[in-house]
Parts: sequence; structure tokens; C-alpha cells
Amino acid sequence: MFKALIHKAGLRSTPARLAVLAILSKATKPMSHGELADCLQTQDFDRATVFRNLNDLTEAGLLSRIDLGDHTWRFELKAKHPHFVCTDCGDVACLSDNDIQVSTKLAAISEVLLKGHCGECL
Ligand SMILES: [Zn+2]
Ligand SMILES: [Zn+2]
Repeated sequence: MFKALIHKAGLRSTPARLAVLAILSKATKPMSHGELADCLQTQDFDRATVFRNLNDLTEAGLLSRIDLGDHTWRFELKAKHPHFVCTDCGDVACLSDNDIQVSTKLAAISEVLLKGHCGECL
């Protein structure tokens, strides 16, 4: 399934790209390069390989690259939904469009980010 997706985006499907997509498809929130590299270390992909492929997949439109305001890029499968970040512990959550409604009449909104305190930190 990922193979077809990668081909459709005009890239060659390599083991590293397939592994990155496999991990992100199971992730419940966006992951940083470091977190992904840690996951992929067991499969013998080094950090530079992971970084390069994250960029390739992002440029090909398969991944979203998100800046949640802490100067760390996080990646997830291309999706359009708001994010929540806890200002205490830095925990990140993906929200659904049912959680928050934004009027898009105002502008073309590219990203919605909510900040606050998560359930653990309240
Ligand atoms: Zn928290
Ligand atoms: Zn998300």
C-alpha cells in the first residue's frame, strides 16, 4: 500500500521510505526526527538516512512537517487537522476537525495550533 503511494508521488520506494511511512502510519501523534531515528535504529537506518528521507517524503507531499513552536520539526502522514501542545510537558496531540471548528472564510489557514495544559498537567 505504501509502495503505491510512494510511486504515485513520483519517488522510488526504498526500504527506508517504507519504514518511515510504516511507523508514522501507526503513530498517534506527530514524531520528531529524533524519535523516528530512535525507532528506526533497530532496522539499521542511520539518522542521516532518516533525515534525508523525511525531507524527500515531505517534498513529495506524503508527509506534513509541523512546527509546534518549540523549534522542533515533527512529521506525520499528510493530514489537515489541528494540534494541541501542552506548555508544561510538551506533549502533543492530534485533534480532529470535530474538536475545533475554524472559519476558513477569513483566510487560507495552513495550520491550527492550540496551546494549554494537558490532562496530566492540569
Ligand atoms: Zn502536560
Ligand atoms: Zn496530527
